Amino acid sequence: MSDEKKVVIVPCSGIGKTYGTVSREAAYDVVEDLRPDEARLVPLSMLVLGDEGARAAVDGSQAITIDGCKLACATKMVRDSGGTIARDYAVLDAYRRHKAFKPAGIAELNEGGLQLAHALAEEIAAEIDKMKEEESTDDTDDTDLRQEEATFLKSKTDLPQYQQTTTGKILPSVQSVKSVDSPTEVDHA
Ligand code: SF4
Repeated sequence: MSDEKKVVIVPCSGIGKTYGTVSREAAYDVVEDLRPDEARLVPLSMLVLGDEGARAAVDGSQAITIDGCKLACATKMVRDSGGTIARDYAVLDAYRRHKAFKPAGIAELNEGGLQLAHALAEEIAAEIDKMKEEESTDDTDDTDLRQEEATFLKSKTDLPQYQQTTTGKILPSVQSVKSVDSPTEVDHA
C-alpha cells in the first residue's frame, strides 16, 4: 500500500514519562510488527518542529493518536496540522482496560509496560482493520452507484425517439424504427 493510503499513527513524545514511553512502544508495535502495510508512524516531535514532510503526511489523512496524559499533545498537534482524528487513545484508559499490566520505567519499560503497550497496539490494529473495511465498503458502494447510473443512461439511449406527425399523432422517428423491432404507435389525441 502506498504511504499516502496508510493510516497515520502519532504517539506523544512523552519523554521522561512512563505512559509516554508506552505510547511510543505501542506505536512501534503497530507500524513495525502488527500492521506495517496499513500504518505508518509520524513522530510528534517532527510535527512540533514544523517539518514539512510530517505535516504533509498528516494533512488530510486519517490519523490515530496515542497520548500519555490528559494534555493530549499528539491529538492537538494532529488537529493543528490539518489531520483528521479517526481515533484518539490515552494510555491511562488502556491501563484501566488492562489493569493486569502495570507499567513502570521510562527509558526502558518493565514487563508490565511492554505488555500494556502490546495490548494497546492490538486494539489499534483492530481499529485499523475496521477503518480499512469501511473504506473498501465505501469504494464498493461508489462502484455500484456508478454501474447503476451507467445502466440507467444506457436504457435511456435504447428508447425510441418520437416525432409528431402532421395529424397530431406521435410516432417513433424513422431512425428509431430502424433500431427498434416493434415500435408502438402512441396516440396523442
Ligand atoms: S501528552 Fe502528556 S506525556 Fe505526552 S507529550 Fe504531552 S505532556 Fe508529555
